[in-house]
Amino acid sequence: MADDAHPSWAIYDLDRLRVNLAAIRHFIGPDQTCIAALKGNAYGHGAVPVARALDDEGLAAFMTGSFEEACRLRAERLSTPVVMFAGALPTGMADLVGAGLVPTVVDRASAEAAADAAPPGETVAVYVKLNAGLGRLGVPLDAAEGFLDELAAIPGLEVRGLYTHLPFGDAQGRDWAAQRLAAFDALLARLEESDRIPPVTQARASACVAAGLADRANAVCVGHLLYGLSPFADASLADLSPYRPVLSEVGSRLIQVSDHPQGSDIAIGGSYGLRRGRRTGVAPIGVAQGLARPVPGSRPHAHVRGRRAPIVAVSLEHMVLDLTDVESAAVGDAVRLLGGEGDAAIGLDELAAWFGVTPLDTVMALSGRLTAHYRGASAGAA
Ligand SMILES: *Cc1c(COP(=O)(O)O)cnc(C)c1O
Repeated sequence: MADDAHPSWAIYDLDRLRVNLAAIRHFIGPDQTCIAALKGNAYGHGAVPVARALDDEGLAAFMTGSFEEACRLRAERLSTPVVMFAGALPTGMADLVGAGLVPTVVDRASAEAAADAAPPGETVAVYVKLNAGLGRLGVPLDAAEGFLDELAAIPGLEVRGLYTHLPFGDAQGRDWAAQRLAAFDALLARLEESDRIPPVTQARASACVAAGLADRANAVCVGHLLYGLSPFADASLADLSPYRPVLSEVGSRLIQVSDHPQGSDIAIGGSYGLRRGRRTGVAPIGVAQGLARPVPGSRPHAHVRGRRAPIVAVSLEHMVLDLTDVESAAVGDAVRLLGGEGDAAIGLDELAAWFGVTPLDTVMALSGRLTAHYRGASAGAA
């Protein structure tokens, strides 16, 4: 088997995408549609398989950051429009428009460049990004109405969407976001009144949705929740139990099992003069495959033959497990680092905590470095 040449894998369960999307929809109600954030190769899950799995869900858009990734999505001939987050220079607008993408504009020069790239007799759709207080990107909220009026005067330009971003991780951030959402809502109300409202309006991403903040926009744009990841550093902010991580399993296999007799000197963790015999095993997965070294004091483990096997060392390409209590362990045995059923399952939160990183950073680090398998009804085409 080809997999045996480097037996380490990740399983992405695409059915969980749909479960998570259903949970998001249940929560936001029927009056808002969803945009899926696919940036960062769909938060490390694979933009193309994720997009294929979601294309028949009737989403308002797929949004992504990189031009290369967006072109791969367009090449799939999906029915969902691909909208670019802000990321291009004004001089790059023609490439985006030429590739059939919907650019985000944050200034007049970009909007004019996009309109200039329109094929004769056609209009070009753009989204406008507002800075509602995050302070990172976009047209300031109080300049939004004037900016939209300027764009309305540019021939061949259609403002299809108006959005902003209000991410937060703790209770103080939630209060800030609630206040900024109210300011965005006030703008939307003025635009509705004067009949200048674009077809798609969006301010809430995973944090606002999960925290139950409401707004009058007609769409939400979700990344974290869609992939079953918490947007919060503070776990008490929301009950995220309906959401399941799409990364459902990480595993490898034992390539060697060794018995070290009592009294022998092995240097793993400075175990000189072993007080009792010890069995260790090595699996070919380490820092190069996206794991970090365990946080001192954490007690990471994997599952081998249904037993807990403590992880005693992680090096660049290998992991050493203590198999002393797994008597029958043998070369080729599966080593499960993430996944499993019931109480014994190892969760993504737990795995991330052992390595001192967030669940999203764990998923991103493992992405593209292990053999990826896609599961679920929508994986057939992937
Ligand atoms: C990434 C992103 C989102 C999605 O954020 P999540 O917290 O992952 O749901 C929404 N809007 C913008 C502008 C983004 O960049």
